[in-house]
Amino acid sequence: ATERKGWFDKLKTGLRKTGTGIQAVFVNAKIDEDLYEELESALLMADTGVKATEYLLDDLRGRVKRQMATDASQVKALLAETVADLLRPLEKPLVIGQFTPTVIMVAGVNGAGKTTSIGKLTKHLADEGASVLLAAADTFRAAAREQLLVWADRNTVEIVSQEGGDPSAVSFDAVNAGKARGKDVVLVDTAGRLPTQLHLMDELKKIKRVVTKADGTAPHEVLLVIDGNTGQNALAQVKAFDETLGLTGLVVTKLDGTAKGGVLCAIARERPIPVYFIGVGEKLEDLETFNAREFAQALLG
Ligand code: GDP
Repeated sequence: ATERKGWFDKLKTGLRKTGTGIQAVFVNAKIDEDLYEELESALLMADTGVKATEYLLDDLRGRVKRQMATDASQVKALLAETVADLLRPLEKPLVIGQFTPTVIMVAGVNGAGKTTSIGKLTKHLADEGASVLLAAADTFRAAAREQLLVWADRNTVEIVSQEGGDPSAVSFDAVNAGKARGKDVVLVDTAGRLPTQLHLMDELKKIKRVVTKADGTAPHEVLLVIDGNTGQNALAQVKAFDETLGLTGLVVTKLDGTAKGGVLCAIARERPIPVYFIGVGEKLEDLETFNAREFAQALLG
């Protein structure tokens, strides 16, 4: 329990540091149009985006009316419920064990925290008793391969990698090795890329196809790692990668830093893909499961 408090505090401090100002709106406020207007600005500042902001305010007005709220602190509590209810569909655990191995492909733009998240995820799975095989399908950057080797070493897990090799071939070999060695999970790290780099997006599709060739039911999960700091752009990334790959889950990183966090509301409203994990630090243990209610509380300060 103390550990959970630790991450919640980090998230809260991180989200608060940005001073999105949502909580300030309620200080000494009356329930009137000004309040809703200020709330609208504060939500937009927190990266919730136009559509989700509109939805949240409509939903909030309904609650305020039904509950006959008379002071601003009640409205704040109702907003926390509104946000938590919007985010709740994103709460979903990553389930493994149904397949041997469960093949998890991981994608993202450069710098999103993909490699770090794979390291954290490896530790998380290993802590749960799962055997993990890493596939270093980021064959472009020697540094990425090396970083993954370090993570593999720290987690004492096996890794399939091939300097300068073809990412699809590495993935294919890794899935086959995972099957042959009876691994619980094969984690496929792919090179960072932008959705606008169409040839690289095609390459991701190819990796997915080849993984399916190695194991007819794979990949079982396709995760996108997004940087919580990228605001509305994160939503654009989610949409683009989802259209290319068919995402099953998200990892949202850097929520301990200067992220505003509201983008999760936009994602919930416009492309509700489960948030399996959030990143709240640079260390291996700084990975947490997503909790809508706690997140909403942290967001509102
Ligand atoms: P990649 O290019 O997507 O593989 O990104 P990396 O995994 O190399 O991470 C980029 C930077 O972000 C590194 O400095 C990481 O330490 C940092 N980072 C990753 N996740 C988190 C997080 O949850 N919190 C913080 N504060 N930093 C993170």
